[in-house]
Amino acid sequence: MKNLRIFLVFCLSVILILPASAFTVVIDAGHGGKDPGAIGTTGKEKDLNLAVSLRLAEYFKQEAPDIDVYLTRSTDVFLTLQERADFVNKHNADLFICVHTNAAENKSVAGTETYTLGLHKQASNLAVAMRENSVITLEDDYQTKYQGFDPKSVESYIMFEFAQDQYMDRSIQFADQVQKQFKNTLNRQDKGVRQAGFWVLHKSACPSVLIEMGFITNKAEEQYLLSKKGQGEIAYAIFTAFKNYKTLIDRRKQVVEKDSVYGLQVGFTQKPAEKKVEKDTIPALSNDEKQPVYYVQIFTVKHELKKGDPTFKGETDCFYIKKGNLYKYMCGKETDYEKITALRETLRQKFPDCFVVAFLGDKQIKINDALNLQHIQKK
Ligand SMILES: [Zn+2]
Repeated sequence: MKNLRIFLVFCLSVILILPASAFTVVIDAGHGGKDPGAIGTTGKEKDLNLAVSLRLAEYFKQEAPDIDVYLTRSTDVFLTLQERADFVNKHNADLFICVHTNAAENKSVAGTETYTLGLHKQASNLAVAMRENSVITLEDDYQTKYQGFDPKSVESYIMFEFAQDQYMDRSIQFADQVQKQFKNTLNRQDKGVRQAGFWVLHKSACPSVLIEMGFITNKAEEQYLLSKKGQGEIAYAIFTAFKNYKTLIDRRKQVVEKDSVYGLQVGFTQKPAEKKVEKDTIPALSNDEKQPVYYVQIFTVKHELKKGDPTFKGETDCFYIKKGNLYKYMCGKETDYEKITALRETLRQKFPDCFVVAFLGDKQIKINDALNLQHIQKK
């Protein structure tokens, strides 16, 4: 009896000291080594990006030690864009922050802008992406390595139209917070949240932004960016933006968990030819009305995707459920909860945010309700 009590106290303490689910941030100081990035009167972009990134990592360490933070580089070394993206995915990052400095022909141009992945709406956004992607051409055989992507060709950028849609909302949320801090706290000129096709964002499987901290070609901004004060202020603004963003997504997560989903439409990517018919007669999930069925939801997008779309990362057996204007894509079909959690673990390597959903007939039900029906415990 006494042993049992000791055992229970032990179990309870283990539960209490287990950390809350970790959140990982990767900070990427743009350029480095043989790639200086944009050049100012006295400064080089690679050095400014590194100085601010190191300060930012330091603020995380001091003020948010529960967040796992990794730097793609902490010294003056060259990294390819693909190596940076691979680093993000290897660490299963929850947020990717690329730190860059802007440049313009016109030396009076100043201000900050934060980019998320998308198709550029203005030529000036495309110009920034082209400049930041141009490092690819320093690599041998880049056309093969980067799947035919040519950073200097306008046509190459069409591919970003529907790219990374599943992370778009969160990327924009964080970008908004960054610009808000720059504008409201630092009184910097706000050039807004923008979209363009950056390879490094495209290949990173998490919400990601590319911050242009200011113009190295503008004398006043270059001086500010070169100063310890300026570097510290910018780093702290980005850190504050992170704290605000984290509060927002944590709050939203709680709401989503409470949300029960009914009135769904269902479509199948396996049969793109039947798309027209689907619009009128949406196929129902042919699930048992009494036995719960589990799927792994891999991502949500705002457009229906074609079969073989790169967003599926090679997964072919997927279908979507349409709720409002969102397409929730699912993989797998199991009545065995053990099997679906095993599939979820496999799919997490490609889709870190994927999770299990349960259906009874055509209705989505809570996982706990499904498990109760099967008299098993959630894990
Ligand atoms: Zn840059």
